[in-house]
Amino acid sequence: MEKILVIEDEEDIREIVSFNLEHEGYSVVSAASAEDGLKLASGSISLILLDVMLPGMSGFEMASSLRKEGNSTPIIFLTARTEEEDLLTGFSSGADDYISKPFSKAELIARIKAVLRRSSGGNEPVQTTCGPLTMDLDAGTASLNGEPLVFSRKEYNILSLLIRNQGSYFTRSDIIRELWTDAPYVVDRTVDVHITHIRSKLGAHKDILVSRTGFGYSLMYEEK
Ligand code: CA
Repeated sequence: MEKILVIEDEEDIREIVSFNLEHEGYSVVSAASAEDGLKLASGSISLILLDVMLPGMSGFEMASSLRKEGNSTPIIFLTARTEEEDLLTGFSSGADDYISKPFSKAELIARIKAVLRRSSGGNEPVQTTCGPLTMDLDAGTASLNGEPLVFSRKEYNILSLLIRNQGSYFTRSDIIRELWTDAPYVVDRTVDVHITHIRSKLGAHKDILVSRTGFGYSLMYEEK
């Protein structure tokens, strides 16, 4: 089981993140400060989720300190401001990434998986298939029966959410909550418009994108 170290001074965020990670099958240790985090950052940790703004030593200072010690555990920074993101360039060690607050659980888990995959040297793309539809979620490409399909970014993100959770239904509100974290004013109809575009691109296979009244949208494929 992969162990993740969560360093975040805001208790609510620390707890919800830890809960979500444990629910996803990770082992979690956490700390409320960089000073305490440093004591836990050795050996068996696969990845560090590191808040930038911490009381005392900052997340950046902690990361520098780890790198100086030769600790190359991948780090995902949790940032609250764009100015912080500008500073991140100094820490691009290849395995690192950042997530802006607020973030969804789906985004968090996706980033963690991507970073762990990169850091473990695994370079096989994450291919996900639903019948004739294949998506390479690392490369951001999709194909239908081997023929490349081009989607807009939002269309791709919706399909990616559905293909990663095949058989589960997502209401319009679920989809907006997962994918439009930066724009809460999005209306349900926006999702419908994207779904209509996706369906038309799926052409003869549009039935794999199922819509069920009261439940929402889902991707499903049944052998005929
Ligand atoms: Ca903080």
